[in-house]
Amino acid sequence: MPAPQRSFVDVAPDSHFPIQNLPFGVFEPRTGGSSRVGVAIGDYVLDLCTLEDRGLFVTPEFQGHRVFGDPALNAFLALGRPAWRKAREIIQYLLNAETAALRDDAAWRAQALIPQADVRMRLPARIGDYTDFYSSYHHANNVGTMLRGAENALMPNWKHLPVGYHGRASSIVVSGANVRRPCGQTKAADAPAPSFGPTKSLDYELETAFLIGPGSALGERIPIDHATDHIFGLVLMNDWSARDVQGWEYQPLGPFLAKNFCTSISPWVVTLEALEPFRRPLPPQDPEPLPYLRAKRDATYDIQLEARLQTAKMNSPYVITRTNFQNLYWSIAQQLAHHAVGGCNLQPGDLLASGTISGPTEESRGCMLELTWRGANPLTLPNGEVRRWLEDGDRLTITGWAQGEGFRVGFGEVTGRIVPA
Ligand code: CA
Repeated sequence: MPAPQRSFVDVAPDSHFPIQNLPFGVFEPRTGGSSRVGVAIGDYVLDLCTLEDRGLFVTPEFQGHRVFGDPALNAFLALGRPAWRKAREIIQYLLNAETAALRDDAAWRAQALIPQADVRMRLPARIGDYTDFYSSYHHANNVGTMLRGAENALMPNWKHLPVGYHGRASSIVVSGANVRRPCGQTKAADAPAPSFGPTKSLDYELETAFLIGPGSALGERIPIDHATDHIFGLVLMNDWSARDVQGWEYQPLGPFLAKNFCTSISPWVVTLEALEPFRRPLPPQDPEPLPYLRAKRDATYDIQLEARLQTAKMNSPYVITRTNFQNLYWSIAQQLAHHAVGGCNLQPGDLLASGTISGPTEESRGCMLELTWRGANPLTLPNGEVRRWLEDGDRLTITGWAQGEGFRVGFGEVTGRIVPA
């Protein structure tokens, strides 16, 4: 067996960012300087501009483009998988413990490797359009059971197509941003008329989302066997939700103000190349989907996911959800092929999210709605506090990683704290 790759940059065994990962993001040094593209390695960011300045990306795959000085990944995304693979190969070689070029050049190292503590992370891309699917069977089944009873839990379409809706891209924020409790219109079942005020049932939804690379033209389909050519990588996502607003507004057109006030994503985009060792066959689907949703070799990924809650009174976070990406019924290839099958065009930087990723067990439920069964079974936290929904001052953090032999391909985290309306 070949020795595992190792970097000359120190990387702790439980770090999310070993040389096997190399996720891309956009950072701004706290000491000044413009936002640009970097790659995470251990506790550092590798500034890709310094590599670009030295001509390392003058290759046929980059077609003469300079893309890493931009304050967003879009130009790099548009280049497609040949350029993404080439960039990964160059960066992995440069950071390898056996490669002297950067390792032994103190001046270049000082310029190129910036402690993550000294940067602010930005949104990784200009997200033009955002879609949220509803692809976990257990989430759809639990929510359907609450609304319509166990007999009618799943809508008749659910196992035939990846259900989704078009969300709001402008209110997507990067991890760390506070989340203001939204106000809205609500109506209790026994109230004679609706009222207006801060939501009383603020929730999180543990999700992942993928970023589109090369897009597609209006009127064109994307065949499912080519779908992953258009997918750059994945981030973690928290689809903050106001359940009381949702309950009153959603019929007949679905989510609106209950979802559009804020959606948080993690800053580092983990590429499909880094996730390749964690690819698993997609379990058989019954009923078999229509031919445009059947790939020759469809896949899911073994990614462990957690949500942690820390109230203002707690000293450390407490895990309230433990789930896995494999709990998604529909694959990312199926989601993408379905999205484009009617001729809707996709563009670099578009974001397509999974929907809440719940599993079959109680601890794998990916939102408070399911964990507390709409508030009926409140959560008791280790310090005795009780939660039906998120309260002001609460911090909700989602993290995730794929576990390799002696290393982790991790996503970092997406975190946000609730502030009063
Ligand atoms: Ca959602």
